[in-house]
Amino acid sequence: MNDVKLAVLGSDGVGKSALIVRFLTRRFIGEYASSTECIYRKRLSVDGRQLNLELYDPCPQPCDGKTSLNEQMHWADGFVVVYDISDRSSFLTATAIVHLIRELHLGVTKRDVDSVVFLVGNKQDLCHMREVSREEGQRLAAENSCQFYELSAAEHYQEVALMFSKVVRNASLNGKSKDR
Ligand code: GDP
Ligand code: MG
Repeated sequence: MNDVKLAVLGSDGVGKSALIVRFLTRRFIGEYASSTECIYRKRLSVDGRQLNLELYDPCPQPCDGKTSLNEQMHWADGFVVVYDISDRSSFLTATAIVHLIRELHLGVTKRDVDSVVFLVGNKQDLCHMREVSREEGQRLAAENSCQFYELSAAEHYQEVALMFSKVVRNASLNGKSKDR
């Protein structure tokens, strides 16, 4: 059976836990208290194959130094980099993370990287408070060969599920996990 490891990265408060919990339970939980346990596990069937999915949800603050970001990047087969469309600073953080992922994966063939880094603008329901245009998100994704989604963990279960299924499928096809 294949293991697939996904890291969900981005600033505090962008909705990483909300997206993960939405995907795993179908429910939107407004205030999800982060515990010390940051890895969620789920068995999935993708294209008729059984997969063990591990989802890494970083704890807020102290454990988020650059060193641990490095470790997460080497651990993961796929990445979901999240920002909040109503918070410009979270977009700058997402930009830095996307660039770092590309730097650290220079050894991997380009196609592998392209299909396993997803950029997600969350909280689309807050578009009346938008600080990051859809075009800016699309541009960042295009410049770094990421897949791009704008969605809302609060309002869109289908889109969230579709996004995670795609990144899981792509990561499972990536050579790195096939070898494990
Ligand atoms: P994390 O720190 O990235 O894990 O962010 P959380 O998942 O804890 O979410 C931070 C806050 O944003 C919480 O108050 C959530 O209820 C809220 N939130 C998450 N996703 C959405 C969304 O799609 N829309 C809105 N309006 N709020 C959201
Ligand atoms: Mg969280």
